[in-house]
This record gives sequence, structure tokens and C-alpha cells, in this order.
Amino acid sequence: MSEPLIFERSSPGRSAYAQRPAAAADFSAIPEALRRKTPPLMPEVSELQAVRHYTRLSKRNFSIDTHFYPLGSCTMKYNPRACNTLAMLPEFLARHPLAPMSHSQGFLACMYDLQEILKDVTGMAGVSLTPMAGAQGEFAGVAMIRAYHRARGDSARTEILVPDAAHGTNPATATMMGYTTREIPTNSEGDVDIEALRAAVGPHTAGIMLTNPSTLGVFERRIKQIAGIVHDAGGLLYYDGANLNAILGKVRPGDMGFDVIHMNLHKTFSTPHGGGGPGAGAVGVSQRMLPFMPIPIVGKATSPPPLAGEGQGGGASGEAASFRWLDERDLPQSIGRLSTFMGNAGVLIRAYIYARMLGRDGMQRVAEYATLNANYLMASLRDKGFDLAFPGRRASHEFIITLKRQKQQIELSATDVAKRLLDYGFHAPTVYFPLLVPECLLIEPTETEDKQTLDLFVDALVAIWAEARRDIKYVKGAPYTMPVRRLDDVRAARQLDIRYQPKP
Ligand SMILES: *Cc1c(COP(=O)(O)O)cnc(C)c1O
Repeated sequence: MSEPLIFERSSPGRSAYAQRPAAAADFSAIPEALRRKTPPLMPEVSELQAVRHYTRLSKRNFSIDTHFYPLGSCTMKYNPRACNTLAMLPEFLARHPLAPMSHSQGFLACMYDLQEILKDVTGMAGVSLTPMAGAQGEFAGVAMIRAYHRARGDSARTEILVPDAAHGTNPATATMMGYTTREIPTNSEGDVDIEALRAAVGPHTAGIMLTNPSTLGVFERRIKQIAGIVHDAGGLLYYDGANLNAILGKVRPGDMGFDVIHMNLHKTFSTPHGGGGPGAGAVGVSQRMLPFMPIPIVGKATSPPPLAGEGQGGGASGEAASFRWLDERDLPQSIGRLSTFMGNAGVLIRAYIYARMLGRDGMQRVAEYATLNANYLMASLRDKGFDLAFPGRRASHEFIITLKRQKQQIELSATDVAKRLLDYGFHAPTVYFPLLVPECLLIEPTETEDKQTLDLFVDALVAIWAEARRDIKYVKGAPYTMPVRRLDDVRAARQLDIRYQPKP
């Protein structure tokens, strides 16, 4: 079912009015040498053809709005339409980031509230909203750990400990900040190997980066003991809070002893994400880390805002404002700025509205249903004969099944199942991550799915397994209903070429 490309629909001289540059466009400001000699190769199609082209492409997206999307560690939950509608109010949408503080009090109040809500939810002493992704939040967090040790004149701490189950961004972040990473093994139950941890800590330990519940989907039961071991050695605890779904309103990283945390608001606090952004990776810190937070932060004004022209958005009218940006004058030890202005305002406002809609009870409900759905799905798959990676453990918001046995017996791989699931109308779970479980599927149903959908997903996995036993070649040929079949992943990554070359 190969459709003609938009270029192949092209007919010389045909045009869609909206695609044409304005008739009076004046390019004289562009130096002659920099102007192109030949016009760009553009498809010449009618407006309706162009509309159909883009609409067709948009329908090829596998999205949470159309399909179940159990992509472990990514939290593809429903993004309530109400949050989007409110975030699109002209008062939010048209606000200029350089608007004076006196004209931005409503927005600043929302951001201040969001900081307070996140402090409350995580048990941390301070929150900065400025990082624009989880990975950037990690960068900010480890930069604060480095700043903390440096401020104490402790330059011997050159190592960050990272459990082998960690998200790839953890060791990457530590390395970017100039640290050596040391891997801590996981035991057979999915917990951190305490003896290995004891042996690894010392005066060279800057900190440990932990996810709890881990990306294995299990809650680290001895977190207090781990915190004690690392703190006693003078190290700090970093919490990768990309997914707070399982603990929201139940357990707080601050109470577990963490010093720094990042939260992916685009995951837990439900803003549309995927395909690389936009995101928001707010960071939270304990009391002793407060001076190092990235700026700007929204603070309560104790005095009238500075005059216009003085720093970011100085108050123009001099009227008393209740909220103001805190910057390098307020936090001279800050690790600095990470984004233009103050982060992804649109994502932050959606997260704020979502949090306010849920309230305290709603947050607990998120954790309860996220955990219930994951455990229901896990138990259903176990009962149908699938192998759990950690059969003795309760699931958090996600869990892992391993196809090691199916791979050995009939050559059925995690990739095969992921591809065939597309034909059944399901997005694939995360595959081959975490790295330490062979042929794994990391499944996160999220709290917004209904039981019928979860049951259909189980049926699909059972059906694929049966198909594979009958005819493994057929399953290895999947998907059959998508615009493309199996791609050469390595070539796509290393030699990506998406230019259109006209046939000679
Ligand atoms: C998603 C995720 C990250 C990275 O977040 P980005 O916003 O994609 O940069 C880090 N750690 C964990 C556990 C995650 O699930």
C-alpha cells in the first residue's frame, strides 16, 4: 500500500495559495552571495492536497489519544483536555516572558503555588521549575551536588554511584558533570546490593543517583539504610523522580532522606509529551542545598519589586506586588540559569492546573490506581504463563516480563512481540530496558486505563505467543498493518537520509 509521496503528486505550476511567499517579499537585505541560485525543490500541489498530506501523516501517529500506550518509564497517561483548554487562555498564552513583574502577578502566583505543591508532594525544602526536561533536571541536580561539595572545600569527591538498573541519563549526567560513575549491582530480588554499596562508598563518593521505585518496577525497601550508608560517608542522595506515579501522596523522597530530586512534570503531571518534548524537569532540594538552586525561582516579595529595566521584568508601576523572581542577587551561590526566561511555561501551567484539579485526594488516587492497574496487568500476564522478572515483588507503576524462555524455545524475541503488538492496535511496551533483564518488556499501564483495555492487551499478548508457536516466521515479519515493516534500526540511526531525491 505504498502511497505516492507529496513530491510525486506535484504538478508544475499548481499551487496552494497559503504556501506562497507574500508577493511583496523583499530579500534585498540578504547579501547577494548568500542568496540561493536556484529555487528550492518544493512539491507543487493544491491546498487541499497539502491539507490531506498533513492530515494523512498525522493519522499515522500512534498516540495516547488513539491507542493504549504502555511504554514503561514514560508514563503515557491521559492528558486531561481541561488542563489544555485553561493553559490556552489568552492571559497565559499571550503573556510575554519579559512582561514586568507587576503585570505578571497571576502567572507568578500560579508558578509559586506549583513550587509549593511540589515541595509538599516530595517533602523537599525548595523547588526550582526552570529545567526543561528530566535529563536537564538531572544536570541541575548533579551540578548542585558538585556546588555543595565545592562550597565546603571538599574536592576529593570524584565519584557518583549508579545502580545497574538506572535510567541511561543517570550515568550520562554524572559523566557530563565530570564525575566518574561506579555501578552498584542489583540483587536477585531487584534491590540494591547493600554489601556492594558498603564496599563502594568512601571519601571519594560525591553521591548516589537512585530511582525508587526503580526502573525494575520495585520499591527499594531498605532505602533508609542506603541513605544512612551514603550520608555517613559524606555523600549525597539524588532521587530520579521522573515517574512519581506510584508514590504520589503516599511516600515522599524528602522523608526517605534524599537531598536532591528531579521530577518529570511531563510524565507524572500529565502534559502531552513524546517525540522529544516539550518537557519540564523541576528540581527539589533539601535544606542544605537551597543556596545552589537554579534560577529564577518565584519568591514572595518582601519589598516592592525593583524598578523597570532593573533585571528580569522589573515592576513598571512601582505598585506593591506579592510575587517576584528570585535571581543571582538573591541566590549568589546558585548553579545559574538553565533556560531562557524560566523554563517551559506552557508545560508548567498545564502541570499546575492538573495538580490543582487532582488536589491531595486526587494525587493519592493516582498512586493507588497506577499501582492497581500495574499489579492487575502483572498478575493477569503471570496467570497466562508469562514470566515475571521479579515474581516475588509487588509492582509499582510498572513491571517487567521477560521472554527469555520463549526466545530459547521458539526464537520469539521482545522485538517480535513489540512489532506484532502494533498490528493488534497497541503501542509496544519499552523493550530491552533495563539492560540487566534479557528479552524484557517494561510495561506501564498508568492509572487512566480501564480494565477492558488491560484485558484486551493481555489477550493480544496471549494471541501473539500462540501465533509464534504455530508460525514464528509470520510473527517475525510483523508489523503488517503499518506504513513500513521492520526497519534497519542501526542504519536508521547511523545513516539517516530523509532527503527527497528526484528520480533521474
Ligand atoms: C524519562 C526518564 C528520564 C529522562 O527524562 P527526559 O525528560 O526524557 O529527559 C530519566 N529517568 C527516568 C527514570 C525516566 O523515566
